[in-house]
Amino acid sequence: MMQSRKAEPELIAQALQTGRLSVEDEHGFHHELYAACPRDGSHVAPVRTIWRRDADGRHIDQLEFHCPRCGRTWQAERTELHLR
Ligand SMILES: [Zn+2]
Repeated sequence: MMQSRKAEPELIAQALQTGRLSVEDEHGFHHELYAACPRDGSHVAPVRTIWRRDADGRHIDQLEFHCPRCGRTWQAERTELHLR
């Protein structure tokens, strides 16, 4: 029987909610958030974090990415975020 693992979008949502840019797995490895550039598919790490504060505390509202290959800067949709 496989150990149950949470789906990637759920892990990402949880990380953003708690203000983290990486997720630690059950083996202690850190998986960092990245986005794939919409133009050329490059895997890009976030360059800027846009915070939001509400009744639940401080969490990450948006992540801005800059692709070194094509020079594009963009704020990724949640669906564009992945874990390494
Ligand atoms: Zn690019």
